[in-house]
Amino acid sequence: MTRSLRPGDPGYDAARMVWNAMVDRKPALIIRCATAAHVIEAIRHGRDAGLEIGVRCGGHSVLGLPVTDGGLLIDLAPMGAARVDPETRRARVGGGALLGALDVAAQRYGLTTTAGNVSHTGVGGLTLGGGVGWLARAYGLTCDNVISYEVVTATGELVRADRTEHPELFWGLCGGGGNFGVVTEFEFRLHPVGTRALEVEFVHELDDAAEALRGWRDLLAEAPRLATPVARVTERDNRPVATIGFVWVGDPAEGRKLLSAYRSIGRPVAEHVRELSYLALQTAGDDAEGHAFRRYWKGHYLRRLTDEAIEAFLDRGDGTYPAARLTLNGGAIGDVPDEDTAYSHRDAQIEFNTSAGWTDPADDHARMTAARKYAAGVEPFASGAYVNALSDEGASGVHRAYTPAKLARLRELKRTYDPDNVFHLNENIRP
Ligand SMILES: Cc1cc2nc3c(=O)[nH]c(=O)nc-3n(C[C@H](O)[C@H](O)[C@H](O)COP(=O)(O)OP(=O)(O)OC[C@H]3O[C@@H](n4cnc5c(N)ncnc54)[C@H](O)[C@@H]3O)c2cc1C
Repeated sequence: MTRSLRPGDPGYDAARMVWNAMVDRKPALIIRCATAAHVIEAIRHGRDAGLEIGVRCGGHSVLGLPVTDGGLLIDLAPMGAARVDPETRRARVGGGALLGALDVAAQRYGLTTTAGNVSHTGVGGLTLGGGVGWLARAYGLTCDNVISYEVVTATGELVRADRTEHPELFWGLCGGGGNFGVVTEFEFRLHPVGTRALEVEFVHELDDAAEALRGWRDLLAEAPRLATPVARVTERDNRPVATIGFVWVGDPAEGRKLLSAYRSIGRPVAEHVRELSYLALQTAGDDAEGHAFRRYWKGHYLRRLTDEAIEAFLDRGDGTYPAARLTLNGGAIGDVPDEDTAYSHRDAQIEFNTSAGWTDPADDHARMTAARKYAAGVEPFASGAYVNALSDEGASGVHRAYTPAKLARLRELKRTYDPDNVFHLNENIRP
């Protein structure tokens, strides 16, 4: 049964809260949907009542995009289950599921597919924007592993989209975000990834970090697909440091073969090598990236990591810049022909992200300004942005996320499936 919540109802406040504690908007109505039929009913009700409609899965978009002030929030959380068939290596995952549900169900059989790095992120928003994670270099983006989508359109029609049925809708859902309907079920292809992983990190003093980053960059072309090289600027013991390393999925002994090359770069002051289960890897960031913090982030794609880009990445400004990460893309992401999906930037070698978290509202301006300044320093080296890493860029962000030709095709698709722009609380493709 659907469950409707209005201001003042028990559970209303919990249901309107999202990952970013800065988001404090109040829908007139929240409808918690457990089936596609509930979603159809909710969309029809919202449209008839003239309410603005937002669709929520994990609530991890940094702006809390789906939470409308005074409108209808369709909460998909009750559709949170994942069912795995180990014979066909397929998973059927509800439109409101979190990544952890998929990983836990699939790992029972040593299977899974590409998912993000924090288990309380929503499968919905992540997959519809593309989806990157520790398996992307081996198996492609999350959306590259979707076999079919079950979708409720803006007119309340339930359709299945795959490569042969509604193929253009399928294309658009692979990276075009929540613009074209409410996905009530994702069907994924799974891979025998095993259950083991390895995390490797070498810590460098900031003064030595440019040399370390250049050494790290020089190893990228040789990186095996099961390795995802990562570099960070962050704080350890209240001191800024840089780290270089990689995450390996699969037999740790194989991953360890890369250690000596990393160890010989620059002058590391500490080394952390940790074997863990794949599920532990996928939840390792859950607490640090937990709810109840005020949040802001910025991201760029870089086609190449030049020396100048390394300098910009390592710049700590006046000491207030947030922590940041460089992650290697490539591998299987680049195997998929660019025209196959709405997702753009398959040629980006590196993703840059900087993310701030704080608790005092008095710090909002300073924290966001510092993140913006830092990202502006890296932007001259950028080739675009990942749609799921956008924050408050608005329409200009959408232009950075897609090539002009793909944006034109997405607009045409929007005109077909949602000409009234019912689904606009997203990185919006205007019809
Ligand atoms: C802690 C954290 C870690 C992250 N790690 C990664 C990562 O490793 N890899 C990565 O690629 N991204 C990552 N992201 C970014 C993430 O992909 C985006 O924030 C994404 O939008 C989150 O999806 P959600 O469902 O949780 O969010 P929501 O805010 O619920 O949804 C985001 C958007 O998608 C729409 N949407 C969601 N579900 C559906 C659906 N079923 N049907 C139609 N529309 C829908 C919403 O309407 C909204 O516009 C991370 C984000 C956070 C906060």
